[in-house]
Amino acid sequence: MNIHDAGSTEIAKEATNPGAPDWHSDVVAPLRVDSADDVAWDSVADLVVVGYGGAGVCAALQARELDLSVIAVDRFAGGGATRINGGVFYAGGGTEIQKEAGVADTPEEMFRYLQLETQGVVSDETLRRFCETSAEAAEWLTGHGVRFSSKLYSKKTSYPHTDYSLYHSDNSLAPLYKALAKPAARGHRALVDHLDVPLGYGKGIYDPLRAAADRAGVTFYHSSTVRQLVIDQSGRVVGIRVTQIPREGNGVARYAKLMARASSIVMSVPPGMPGAGLFRAFAERKFAKARTIEQRIGLTRFIRARRGVCLSAGGFIFNRDMVRRYAPKYLMGMPLGTPGDDGSGIRLGQSAGGAVERLGHVSAWRFINPPIAWAEGMLVNRKGERFVNEMLYGASIGMAMVEEHDGASWIIIDDDQRRKAMAQANDEKTLPFQKYPAVAAMLFGSRKSKSLETLARKCGFEPERFTDEVARYNALAEGRRPDPLGKASEDIAIIRTPPFHAINISIDARLAALPVLTLGGLKVDEATGAVLDGGGARIPGLFAAGRNAIGICSNIYVSGLSAADCVFSGRRVASSAAAEP
Ligand SMILES: Cc1cc2nc3c(=O)[nH]c(=O)nc-3n(C[C@H](O)[C@H](O)[C@H](O)COP(=O)(O)OP(=O)(O)OC[C@H]3O[C@@H](n4cnc5c(N)ncnc54)[C@H](O)[C@@H]3O)c2cc1C
Repeated sequence: MNIHDAGSTEIAKEATNPGAPDWHSDVVAPLRVDSADDVAWDSVADLVVVGYGGAGVCAALQARELDLSVIAVDRFAGGGATRINGGVFYAGGGTEIQKEAGVADTPEEMFRYLQLETQGVVSDETLRRFCETSAEAAEWLTGHGVRFSSKLYSKKTSYPHTDYSLYHSDNSLAPLYKALAKPAARGHRALVDHLDVPLGYGKGIYDPLRAAADRAGVTFYHSSTVRQLVIDQSGRVVGIRVTQIPREGNGVARYAKLMARASSIVMSVPPGMPGAGLFRAFAERKFAKARTIEQRIGLTRFIRARRGVCLSAGGFIFNRDMVRRYAPKYLMGMPLGTPGDDGSGIRLGQSAGGAVERLGHVSAWRFINPPIAWAEGMLVNRKGERFVNEMLYGASIGMAMVEEHDGASWIIIDDDQRRKAMAQANDEKTLPFQKYPAVAAMLFGSRKSKSLETLARKCGFEPERFTDEVARYNALAEGRRPDPLGKASEDIAIIRTPPFHAINISIDARLAALPVLTLGGLKVDEATGAVLDGGGARIPGLFAAGRNAIGICSNIYVSGLSAADCVFSGRRVASSAAAEP
C-alpha cells in the first residue's frame, strides 16, 4: 500500500488506538508499516526534529555541524518557551565569563553542588560529564553569537537588575550548601538589545542559535504539528506524520493569533483570582477554535527520518488533563510556557512504548527576593509553623510549600520590615515583574494586627504555637545557635514592631500567582538520549531532549538549568544520530 495515498482521515482512523488513556491528547498511535519504503514520503532527512525550541535548535545545529541533513518542524514559529524565558543559562567549571569576572570555579565544585540539587536524577557519570563540558557548552553558544557579560551581581537575589549578567542563580550561597560545595556565580544571563521587559531574554539565546542553524542549512517547517510516529516492522521509528497549515491564505496568521491570545490569558490571570474560571473558559474557546482551523485546512505530510527522530516538543503544563492526572497539587499554579507545552512530545514517545518518569515533578516559582526584606522575614505554613530557609532559591521554597505544606504559606514581617519591603519593591533596580506583584500582595493580599495572637487568629494559625515560633525565630537572630533550617543569623530580621503583617503567598492566593512548569518526561539512555521502553531497552530511531526527557533539571530547577540541559541533551541527540548506521 502506498500509505500517503490512503488520505489523512483514513490513516487517523486506522491509527487511533482504542485502548488509549481517556485523558486529552491529540496524539494517535503510531502508523505501523512493513518498511519505510511503503510510505510516499514528502521529505527526507537524516535527523527529524519535532519541536524547534531550545533543545530542538541545539540538536538541529549540532547535527548540521556533524554533516547530517536536518528537517525541524514546529507547531508555531519555533522558539517555544525558550524564546520567551528569562535568558539564564547555568554554566560553570570556569567559563570565560566567570574568568573575566574573577569568579573561581571548577567542574568538581559545580558537580558537588549540583549533586545536592539533582539528588540522583541522572547518574553521577552523566552529571560529571555535564559539569566537565559546561564551559565548552557556553563557548559553543558564544561561538554562535550568544552574548553574556561578566558584570557580576554577587549578592542573593532571584533575578538581578538587567544591568547585570552573571549571578548566583541557585542555592549555592545558602549555608547548608556552602558548607558542602564552594559557591560560584553560574547564572549567565544572555544580553539582549532594546529589551525593556525582563522576560523574553531567552531570545538572546534562541535567536542567534536559530540564525546559525538557518545558515548551516536546517530545513524548517513552521505551523506543522506532529501527532503520529511511523514505525516499521522491526520496531524502528522511521518518520513522522505532520499536519501542516498551508502558507497560502490567512490560516497561519489566524491560528497563531488565537493561540497567542489564549496563552496570554492563561499566563496573566492567577487561577486563585475571582473570575479566573471565566477567563480560563474564554482561553479554552480560543484554543479550540485554533484546533478547528488546523483540522479544517491542515495538510498531511510524511517526513522520513533516516537516522532518527528527536522529540523536543517541551513540557505539559498547558495540558490540564495531564497536570490533573500526574501533578494534581499544582493545578492551582499559573502555567508558565506556551500552548506548545501540551505534552504531545511526551505522548508521542509513549505511543512508541517509551517509559516516563517524574511527571509529578513541577517547578513552582515562589520568588520572595526582591524585596529582600520579605526573605529576611519568616515563612509559615497554614498552622503558623516555619518550614523552610526563606533565603533559598524560589523554586526550592515553592517545592517545599506545595509538596509538604498543601501549597499554603504566609510571610510574617513586622512594620519596620514592611516599610523596608515597600521601599525595596519601589526601588528603580527592582524589575516591574517583581515590583507590582510584591506591592499588590502587601496592599491587598495581607492581614495585619497589633498583636501576634490576633494575627494568628486572622490567618487561622494556632495562636500559642505561632507566638512560640516567632520567639524562636527572633532568638535565631542573636546567632547563639544555628538555625535548623540553615538560615544565616545575619539574614534574620527580628519581628518586634507592631503592627505585624502576614502576606499570603499560598498557591491559591488571589494576587500572588505561583508560576509552574513541568520537569518530568521520557526516560532516556543517558549516554545517547535514546528513548527507553519500560524494560530499559532503546527504542530504535527515537531520541528525546529538553523537557520531553528526563534531564539534569528533572529533580529540581534552579535558574538556567533547563536551558543548560536543553543544550546538553539536544547536542547529545545529534551526536548519537550521527553515530547511527
Ligand atoms: C517565562 C519563563 C521563564 C523561564 N526562564 C528560564 C531561564 O531563564 N532559564 C532556564 O533555564 N529556563 C527557564 N525557563 C524554563 C525553560 O524556558 C523551559 O524549560 C525550556 O525552554 C524548555 O525547552 P524545550 O526545548 O524543552 O521546549 P521549548 O523551548 O518550549 O520548545 C518546544 C517546541 O516544540 C513545539 N511543539 C510542541 N508540540 C509540538 C508538536 N506536537 N509538533 C510540533 N512542534 C511542537 C513548541 O511549539 C515549541 O516551539 C523559563 C520558562 C518560562 C516560561
